[in-house]
Amino acid sequence: MTGPHPADGPPIPPAGEGAPFDLVLLDRDGTLNVQVVDDYVREPGALRLLPGAAAAVGRLRAAGCRVVVVTNQRGVSRGLMTLTDLDAVHERLEEELAARGAALDAVLSCVHAAGECGCRKPAPGLLDEAFRRAPWAARERSVLVGDSGSDLAAARAAGVPARRVGPAGAAPSLLDVVTDLLQGRDG
Ligand SMILES: [Mg+2]
Ligand SMILES: [Zn+2]
Repeated sequence: MTGPHPADGPPIPPAGEGAPFDLVLLDRDGTLNVQVVDDYVREPGALRLLPGAAAAVGRLRAAGCRVVVVTNQRGVSRGLMTLTDLDAVHERLEEELAARGAALDAVLSCVHAAGECGCRKPAPGLLDEAFRRAPWAARERSVLVGDSGSDLAAARAAGVPARRVGPAGAAPSLLDVVTDLLQGRDG
């Protein structure tokens, strides 16, 4: 079995005092950035943040939550992009967020084909890796936000509550969901 990329990330430091959630696990394509139809975000120039996404991440971080992206990127196993390309896309993601005052605590990717690993969502391996790097975090005090059934299934398999954003940038946006989560309402 192969595991998440990168394999050797540093520990995730504890959430801030009074944070409403320990880890907030975010899907990438269709949740933080525009999903490329029938393709992958293969290079940094193709990355487009969704409206309000940076503000949502900034609000989570300001509340003391640790924010971790968990993303399926099968385009690597299909030979459509390299790990270097993927890392460059994630550097751009960090830059775009930083330009808007936001930041991520980790980005964990499954770069494998379906059925050859334990980390491709709906399997829970990416989430398990996030909690391995954050042993202080409780799953029931964490939440995953994604736009697809496989996101919700991965959360269910990992024992983490989940919320869904609308498809293809439709409401509710990530910012809508985060606003709701930070107000402590259930959806
Ligand atoms: Mg998605
Ligand atoms: Zn995988």
